[in-house]
Amino acid sequence: MEAPVPPRQLYIGGAWVAPVKGQYMPVINPATEQQFTQIPAATAEDVDAAVAAATAAFRSGHWSRTTGEYRAKFMRAIAQKVRDAKSVLARAETMDMGKPIDEAEWDMDDVATCFDYYAGQAEALDARNASAPPIDVGMKEFEVRVKREALGVVGLITPWNYPLLMATWKVAPALAAGCCCVLKPSEMASLTCLELAALAHEAGLPAGVLNVVTGSGPDAGAPLSAHPGLAKVAFTGSAATGRRVALAAAANIRPASMELGGKSALIVFEDAEVDKAVEWCMFGAFWTNGQICSSTSRLLVHEAVAPAFLEHLKRRAESINVCDPLTPGSRLGPLVCESQYRKVMSYIEAGKADGATLLTGGGRPSAPSIGSAGYWVAPTVFAGVNPTMRIWKEEIFGPVLSVATFTTEAEAVALANDSEFGLAGAVISADPERCRRVADALECGIVWVNCSQPCFCYAPWGGLKNSGHGRELGEWGLENFLSVKQVTKYVSPDIWGWYSPPAAK
Ligand code: NAD
Repeated sequence: MEAPVPPRQLYIGGAWVAPVKGQYMPVINPATEQQFTQIPAATAEDVDAAVAAATAAFRSGHWSRTTGEYRAKFMRAIAQKVRDAKSVLARAETMDMGKPIDEAEWDMDDVATCFDYYAGQAEALDARNASAPPIDVGMKEFEVRVKREALGVVGLITPWNYPLLMATWKVAPALAAGCCCVLKPSEMASLTCLELAALAHEAGLPAGVLNVVTGSGPDAGAPLSAHPGLAKVAFTGSAATGRRVALAAAANIRPASMELGGKSALIVFEDAEVDKAVEWCMFGAFWTNGQICSSTSRLLVHEAVAPAFLEHLKRRAESINVCDPLTPGSRLGPLVCESQYRKVMSYIEAGKADGATLLTGGGRPSAPSIGSAGYWVAPTVFAGVNPTMRIWKEEIFGPVLSVATFTTEAEAVALANDSEFGLAGAVISADPERCRRVADALECGIVWVNCSQPCFCYAPWGGLKNSGHGRELGEWGLENFLSVKQVTKYVSPDIWGWYSPPAAK
């Protein structure tokens, strides 16, 4: 099948540049296992060139010391170009990583909205800096002001599950702040990030402000995270890689923001409306083929309603439209790649071996339209899971839902919080007071009440514990890329007078 986007080189210093070592990686459609294009495989030499280009751009001040109003114009132009190219970008993303086309199109809308939102934040930054009152330091001789300014050159390392959206969550606020960026998308799905560079180029973004280096984690990601030329590393990915990235940045005494994995719980109480609750359970576990950091992949159902609830869930899960993800209406595509498929299948085997009850799924879906190729796993539900099992504790990152039951609210909260992760949590109940109590008690950065997964670029996103630290999106996302500068002015007409004047001779 023909690639929806042209083959690209690395985007460095405003130009398309072949990787120094001349190597490329195949891009394989996970629905068919067919290679349809390739991406450049950058190495440390290319990363050096990208950081140098970003540094030159940053120091020139042509971006970093402009007004937010100026930067916003470019960002709105990029947003519009993303909207105009939506169907091509969505198709590229579906072929690159397997998510259903309707979801990919939705993601492109979110990408455009995010650029527009941070254009507004860039403009608001001008007003914040202009109107910030002096700080009262208790001495009238001094006027102390605080200015927020661009942090510097930032390294952005992103995953494959929302390839362009996760990159945008970092690129948009970084550009709004006035930073210059080196983006290293996941080697599993880089096509739309290269297209972002093309759209930014068309929008006239100054050379060096956004650089995109594609390549593997060890060859391109590791040299970027360890680069001493960066002011910060912003990372989204697994906890294991996050630890390596954080350690590499720490060796240079650079901050690293961490958006990592999760194993979030959804608690369904006995008073929940079954139809609504079941659909949110499915959305929380099977959307994006279950490959979501915030997936509510642990389901806690009140014991009194569990049998009927699970019967309903099983029927609904078995009716999910599994077909070629390029077909409108598809609701579950293949997993991203063979290694991810093997990993998910090994968790399913572990669930069975540990004694959980396989309620549905557990292997290749039976849908005839998908043929025999591709990395498909049917929507899978395990019941009778207990907290010692690996499928309860570890992030699977596939369409696998683990279900346990509870009897009291306190027990449900304790089970939900008993996790090394703390990204998200959800509660479904008809009792608003109970929802409030549970929302307060959940140890995580995001709580959904009577739903699971909705995400808006205006509100903070991020977790606790092994899910990372720092927050993206909203005004918090902008702060990630700002430095706070104190400017203290001596305003007294008098001499400072600490040293006695020399004695008259
Ligand atoms: P990953 O950790 O394998 O890779 C993430 C990125 O890190 C990729 O670009 C990869 O090339 C790069 N990388 C790999 N090794 C590296 C190294 N040694 N040094 C520097 N960079 C390196 O993660 P993934 O499989 O791409 O994504 C899935 C993970 O991302 C899941 O754990 C998921 O929960 C998490 N995630 C979190 C969020 C969030 O907002 N918290 C959002 C999306 C995904």
